[in-house]
Amino acid sequence: MYDYLIVGSGLYGAVFAHEAKKAGKRVLVIDKRPNIAGNVYTETVEGIHVHKYGAHIFHTNNIEVWNYITQLATFNRFTNSPVANYKGELFSLPFNMYTFNKMWGVVTPEEAAAKIAEQRKEITGEPKNLEEQAISLVGRDIYEKLIKGYTEKQWGRDCKDLPAFIIKRLPVRLTFDNNYFNALYQGIPIGGYTQMIANMLDGIEVRLGVDYLEHKSELDALAEKVVYTGAIDAYFGYQLGTLEYRSVRFETEILDMPNFQGNAAVNYTDRETPWTRIIEHKWFEFGKDKNGNDLPKTVISREFSSEWKPGDEPYYPVNDEKNSALYAEYKKLAEEESKVIFGGRLGEYKYYDMDAVIDNALIKVKNELSKVNV
Ligand code: UDP
Repeated sequence: MYDYLIVGSGLYGAVFAHEAKKAGKRVLVIDKRPNIAGNVYTETVEGIHVHKYGAHIFHTNNIEVWNYITQLATFNRFTNSPVANYKGELFSLPFNMYTFNKMWGVVTPEEAAAKIAEQRKEITGEPKNLEEQAISLVGRDIYEKLIKGYTEKQWGRDCKDLPAFIIKRLPVRLTFDNNYFNALYQGIPIGGYTQMIANMLDGIEVRLGVDYLEHKSELDALAEKVVYTGAIDAYFGYQLGTLEYRSVRFETEILDMPNFQGNAAVNYTDRETPWTRIIEHKWFEFGKDKNGNDLPKTVISREFSSEWKPGDEPYYPVNDEKNSALYAEYKKLAEEESKVIFGGRLGEYKYYDMDAVIDNALIKVKNELSKVNV
C-alpha cells in the first residue's frame, strides 16, 4: 500500500512526490505518457534540449521557490527577450523604449509616454476586456501590430472576448530593457528540464504509459490518497460539460545550419502567418553543447494554436467567465473527493507559471504532511 498515488509526473506531481518521499511516505508516480516531466519535458536532438511541449523559461520573484528549485538543478543565465515579427518588421518585446522607438521614432521616455497617453484616451473607465486593457496600456498602434493578431491566434477568440488579465502578464517599460519578465530570478536548468524532474523523482517508483482514468479503481486501491494533476473535467467524466482549453501543435525541424533566427523566440504577430511563434531551441543554452562547443545544426519548432478537442493535449485553460463558472462547479465536486488532491494547471484549471505550480505544490504537500502526522 502506498501513501500517495501521484497521477502525472509534471512539475506539480514531481514536487509533491519529492517532498512526500523526503518525509518518509511511500509514493507511486504514474504517467500516461512514455516519459516523465509532463509539459516541461525536454528531449535531446543533435545535442540540443528540445522543449517538446513548448518553450519553458523559468522565472520567479519568489525566493523560497528559487532556493528550492536550484537545489534540484543548476540554472543558466538565459533571459527571455523575444522578438516580434510583424510582416517582416522586427520589434523588441516586451513593450519598452526599443519597441516605442521602432514604432514611433520617439527617443525619450517622455515622448513615448506622451504618445501612449494620447492613444489611450479612447479608453474611458476600467478596461473591460483584453482589447481595452491593451490599448490602455500601450495605445492602439502597438495593439494592432504586436498584440491583436498574436493574441487572437493564440486564443482563437476576439480580443474583446478575452479577460484583461492575460495582457497584464507583459511588462510595459519606459526603459531600454528587453527582459520579458519582471522577475528577480530567471534561467533554464542546465542539462534540461527532464533531468531536473528525474532528480526530483530519484528513488521514487514511477510507472509510465499508465492511464489513470482507464484503470481508476485498481489504481485507487493501491494508495491512501491520490494527487491528481490531469484535467479536472476529465476526472469527473465531463459530467457537467467540457471545460475549454487551448492546445498547441508543434512542427519541429532539424536544419543543417548553425543559426536560423538568432534568438530563442520570434513571435509572428500578424494575423495571416498561421503559426504564433518559432522557437529555436539551441539559444536557450547559447548555442553550445554540454562541453561548451558550438553546435553545427539547429532545431526549430513552429507553434500552432488550436481549440482543444478530445484526444488533443490540453495546454492552456481558457479562464473566461463561462469557463471559470463551470470550473467553480467542478471544484465543488472536487471538494467532495476527500481522498483526492487536485493540483497544477489542469487540475486547478489555472494559467499557472512554473514557479506558481511549485509554490502551490509545496504549500499543499506541507499542509498535507502536517495533517497526516497529527
Ligand atoms: N502577447 C502579445 N504579443 C506578443 C506576446 C504576447 O500580445 O508578441 C500577449 C498575448 O495576449 C498572449 C499573452 O501576451 O496571450 C501571453 O503571451 P506569452 O507568449 O507570454 O504566453 P505563454 O504562452 O508564453 O504563456
